[in-house]
Amino acid sequence: SANPRQDFDVIVVGGGPAGATVSAAVALRGHRVLLVEKETFPRYQIGESLLPSTVHGVCRILGVEDEMARAGFKPKRGGTFRWGRNPEPWQFSFALSPRLADPTSFAYQVERSRFDAILLDNARRVGVDVREGCRVTGVLADEERVRGVRWTGPGGEVREAGARYVVDASGNGSRIHPHVGGKRIHSDFFRNIAVFGYFAGGARLPAPNEGNIFCAAFDEGWLWYIPLRDDLTSVGAVVAREHAEAVQRDPATAWRRLIDACPEVRGFLDGVPRATQRPYDQVRVRKDWSYWKSRLWRPGMALVGDAACFVDPVLSSGVHLATYGGLLAARSINGCLAGDPDESRLFAEFEARYRHEYGLFHEFLVSFYDLHQDERSYFWKARKVTSVGTTELEAFVELVGGLASGDASLTGAGPAGERLTASAGDFERAVRRLPDADDLRNPLYESETFRQVFQEGTVLQERGLFGGPLEPEAPLRPGGLVASEDGLAWVEAEA
Ligand code: FAD
Repeated sequence: SANPRQDFDVIVVGGGPAGATVSAAVALRGHRVLLVEKETFPRYQIGESLLPSTVHGVCRILGVEDEMARAGFKPKRGGTFRWGRNPEPWQFSFALSPRLADPTSFAYQVERSRFDAILLDNARRVGVDVREGCRVTGVLADEERVRGVRWTGPGGEVREAGARYVVDASGNGSRIHPHVGGKRIHSDFFRNIAVFGYFAGGARLPAPNEGNIFCAAFDEGWLWYIPLRDDLTSVGAVVAREHAEAVQRDPATAWRRLIDACPEVRGFLDGVPRATQRPYDQVRVRKDWSYWKSRLWRPGMALVGDAACFVDPVLSSGVHLATYGGLLAARSINGCLAGDPDESRLFAEFEARYRHEYGLFHEFLVSFYDLHQDERSYFWKARKVTSVGTTELEAFVELVGGLASGDASLTGAGPAGERLTASAGDFERAVRRLPDADDLRNPLYESETFRQVFQEGTVLQERGLFGGPLEPEAPLRPGGLVASEDGLAWVEAEA
């Protein structure tokens, strides 16, 4: 026929950070990868504030760290928050010690159109066959496994392609994720809606925090304020889902009203005009983003990035989970393609680590919302740790099941609730110590919750800096696997 069926080792659906990461990490091991992306890059996406592990860990492993450094993105030392008991803004710095200059304790604020294009071009450069303007419409599978995809080319012609593995990295709008583990499980606790847009400038925080994300809690929710360029600021409001109708009817008016309801952000933008340049001239809305899946793989197929799961915009975990999940999947795929017969063991490692990381962020973000107190506010009253519902607690136990391995207390909703309450209290105490901190130690690292959340990131950063973690990496579970030296596969842990 005119469109003969083609075969690959791996087919990746979607060219965002998750897809660009998994495809490049597989191609770097010499395998044949097809990546199908429905848009033509550069394309707009939200999610502009990054974490250090993406910049210094994943980007380094993929060979794109220097290009990131040259791209001129705004360096981000951490976050500044007007949130919690303290009426004054406080800093959340990535550095273990604010005084000692650690070369990997910063990230970037990125225009996603540019960042995503850098990652996708890198995938192409290392050998991925990238097809933009093409759409995957279905999955080819039999009883045993997934064996390929159906896709449409740029002219609308229908094609089929076969592969040992299909990776769904097609984001929150994925149509094919139900092929793995059925429906998404949505969170009630994080059931928010966001309305966001851009200003052509705006005030900056005092140095050295001028690149920080600024987040301010107010009566109806919270606002993010991200300095992307001197002449461009991303501003978004996260409010209760109950506002959905008003927000969707007239996003621009709702957005302006919410900004005006938050004195700090309103002050930063006094007299600053909205951005008029595309794609920043629009006010956009997103909701229904907080979900996970009961399974993240089946024979022949894996889910990564927003196709698999996302928690909440606060604290910038989305691109981290997407790129980290992509890397984990690539390690398992690379092992199978290199001839390891134990597909189940390799993908169980991917799934356990990914769920673990998601569970940690889920727990930490609940603690973070719990910090802020406002008895008069509907939004904040519903975001106390005590408002996490039983169903969600049970799901959380499953998510973090392997987390405190062998911890018998994690067997029911009651103890899980206690664990969450304890985490929130622990984090709250660390934040309260911030104002008295000297500049030698970052008190946030005294919180177990905080430390755990940044632990995997720290391992990735050390790998970037020193070519490997400072101490031999411990397996997540007894008998589990650890990352190879180049970060692209799994190996047995040292005895
Ligand atoms: P995407 O970036 O969505 O990429 C998926 C790609 O797949 C797209 O390019 C799409 O065109 C393509 N695609 C879709 N369907 C098909 C198909 N059928 N065939 C082929 N291609 C297809 N994260 C952060 O790290 N920091 C933040 O500050 C942050 N803020 C956020 C604020 C809000 C309001 C929300 C909702 C999210 C935020 N996030 C943030 C999360 C972040 O946006 C996502 O986690 C991240 O973009 C996920 O990357 P991805 O590669 O999985 O998916």
